[in-house]
Amino acid sequence: MRAGKLFIVATPIGNLEDITIRALKILREVSFIACEDTRHTIKLLNKYKIKKRLISYYQPKEEKKIPYILSLLEKGENGALVSDAGTPGISDPGYKLIVRALEKNIEVVPIPGPTALITGLCASGLPTDRFLFIGFPPRKKSALDKLLDSLKEEKGTLIFYQSAKRLSSFLERLYQILGNREIVIARELTKIHEEFLRGRIEDITLNLKDKILKGEIVVLVKGKKEK
Ligand code: SAM
Repeated sequence: MRAGKLFIVATPIGNLEDITIRALKILREVSFIACEDTRHTIKLLNKYKIKKRLISYYQPKEEKKIPYILSLLEKGENGALVSDAGTPGISDPGYKLIVRALEKNIEVVPIPGPTALITGLCASGLPTDRFLFIGFPPRKKSALDKLLDSLKEEKGTLIFYQSAKRLSSFLERLYQILGNREIVIARELTKIHEEFLRGRIEDITLNLKDKILKGEIVVLVKGKKEK
């Protein structure tokens, strides 16, 4: 029997209209959808009147769910993997399942769409020709400092995911280790309160002094200046 295909389907990062025609077609056609939080994915499926069997697949339970998902694919069922937002596997579950599916010669098919890092980068005004995506930086100061130290010489734009809660301490470490670089804070992308803050770390920190930023954030840092 021919194995089914595993479709890696990108979904919106805020605005529910940011989904491709092909993604909707695949979500309608597959026999199951593996998703992080069924309550979250249901909102998207309801908007597009899609009714589908959902299998929860989230980080702490990744290993446990893989054999079951693979068994369905091996039986010939086609399945989709989605995450709560954006592209699965990008600071989200997916990598482990994809590796195991490939080991079993199951075809893995990408269905491209939004991801916060590219959405933030493309409108940031920082160089897009070369960039390095870091994802969520370590929370511990010593590990964060070590990471930032290793990035000092990087010439490409650095892209981080960060929570609003940790933003100010993160900016402080950036300033201490990389200097007063140009940065962009891209917040609530594709949503009503979408906002881009552009400037040097010092100025942005000053502007944010009495404000508490809310929501989801991408921090982009200009790479080291060419001599
Ligand atoms: N898989 C997602 C992607 O493709 O971008 C990322 C998931 S990760 C768990 C969530 C983080 O992505 C947030 O903490 C934030 O840093 C960033 N993010 C997601 N949606 C965003 C948005 N609408 N605006 C700004 N940042 C966002």
